[in-house]
Amino acid sequence: MTHLRIVFLGTSAATPTRSRGLSATAIQRGDELLLFDAGEGVQQAFSIAGLGLNRKTKVFITHIHGDHTVGLLGLLQSMSMAGRERPIDIYGSERVWALVREGKRILGFGLTFPVRFKKTRAGVILDEDEYVVRAARSEHESDSYAYCLQEKDRPGEFHREKARSLGVPEGELWSKLQHGQPVSVKGKRILPSQVLGSKRRGRKIGVSGDTRPNTSLTKFFKGCDVLIFDSTYGDDQASRAVENLHSTAREAAMLARNAEANLLILTHFSARYTDVSPLLLQAGEVHPRIIAATDQMAVDIPYPEDW
Ligand SMILES: [Zn+2]
Repeated sequence: MTHLRIVFLGTSAATPTRSRGLSATAIQRGDELLLFDAGEGVQQAFSIAGLGLNRKTKVFITHIHGDHTVGLLGLLQSMSMAGRERPIDIYGSERVWALVREGKRILGFGLTFPVRFKKTRAGVILDEDEYVVRAARSEHESDSYAYCLQEKDRPGEFHREKARSLGVPEGELWSKLQHGQPVSVKGKRILPSQVLGSKRRGRKIGVSGDTRPNTSLTKFFKGCDVLIFDSTYGDDQASRAVENLHSTAREAAMLARNAEANLLILTHFSARYTDVSPLLLQAGEVHPRIIAATDQMAVDIPYPEDW
């Protein structure tokens, strides 16, 4: 069982407020950290959340706008100050890479660790042993992306009593069966399917970045356990959401409902809303399970069967 926690590091749109910093969301999965966007001041939010600057980290940038990227250089610099040696992978558009490369050159700083740039494109961009990350075009600027972290299926539950009744002794042979390998007991072949329940689905977490809602994103986020979605505006600014290629909280909820997302977390609120409870109410008329993110809010995400 791998612990998965979402930590909101910055939940304001475009400009920071007294209580909200600029866009950044971290997913802690086991000992790994996946960071989605790096708004200005992200390294301070990192330190308040106690995320640590030396762990295995991957950064995914949704788009080049400053409120999502200006913190990147500072974060890398703080990691260097902490003596980081592990490489870091940054996924984004060519302009994100140019920002890091040119920023380092102009500011004249070196790093104590390698930065590996990976260009984001639509499709699977990362395939690890236990999960994949996919990207899809979002509807905001010319090179903007939404991301989705999806854990691979886990083996089914191991039925100890069944294994015992088939005469399989506890120990090495149990472990083989649990890992999907057949074993032999007194000349009798035992298959994993005889002692394992059906495969169990992993968790699926979607991160929209800035975007209009649309049908291709609905498809991309289908069946998300948690969907983190652009909720820049309330109903009062619905036309501005269209103009600026953002979403209202209600639109985020409509997309989440159509995608059958279990939990919707609203974020990226316009600084005009000192109180976002009206946005939460509007979205709540459409989808039953909604949270409005706040800076430093942490949400532990159970496996689908444990909700
Ligand atoms: Zn933004």
